Amino acid sequence: MCSGRVDLSFVLRAFLNGVDGVFIGGCRLNECNYVTHGNFHALNTVLLCKEIMEHIGLNPERLHIEFMSGAEGILFAEVVSDFGKKVKKLGPLGKAEGIDGHELKSKLEALTKLVPYIKMVKKEKLALRIDDEEEYSKLFTRDEVDEMFREVISYYIDPEKCQACMICLKKCPVEAIVGGKNQIHVIDQDKCIKCGTCFEACPPRFGAVQSIAGEPPPPIPEEKRTIVRKKKEKSGKS
Ligand code: SF4
Ligand code: SF4
Repeated sequence: MCSGRVDLSFVLRAFLNGVDGVFIGGCRLNECNYVTHGNFHALNTVLLCKEIMEHIGLNPERLHIEFMSGAEGILFAEVVSDFGKKVKKLGPLGKAEGIDGHELKSKLEALTKLVPYIKMVKKEKLALRIDDEEEYSKLFTRDEVDEMFREVISYYIDPEKCQACMICLKKCPVEAIVGGKNQIHVIDQDKCIKCGTCFEACPPRFGAVQSIAGEPPPPIPEEKRTIVRKKKEKSGKS
């Protein structure tokens, strides 16, 4: 019902499914029935997504948001029809931009995995409610988005520090942490969505989860993951 429900991942999923253009319709700005003003969030998401589309070589014109009231049926018909014509002119997704189908699919899949990270890094800007249209035109910039992807963070468990308490494993939302009792835990980087939960959850006295820019070191081999704990010495008293 609310355009504020539209998530970045929905737009990427639509493109992954091969649609040539995505249209989002929302209520007029500042006329939201709720205190949340979700249409501002939708607008911010679209502006960010457009920069991300440019980053991967897609034409940002393939994504459009329009605000109107439920009584503006004619306007709705007009803007949807105009957008349809525009998308037809742009041509098939990827082909028109000279991006190979497999390459586009893997780029969109990689981006989808990063959605929680992107939303976390840009959460303050995504929550903004600006009334000045000029300000909106510079909310997100290409340089900023390029930099965000250059500095993508990875999470890594330091095998020297992990005490196999299993807290991170239980809290990871996508079961990306491999471990068990007395087993040094490792992060499956293919599954990790970079949410940072494990980083927050690892007790400070262990401090085993590290956030690092770029590629993390390879995981410790499976045969070296068992933690051998020293037995407590028995007291001499009888
Ligand atoms: S950052 Fe940690 S908690 Fe989040 S998905 Fe990756 S491994 Fe799981
Ligand atoms: S929370 Fe920290 S110490 Fe505990 S298993 Fe995870 S990485 Fe290891």
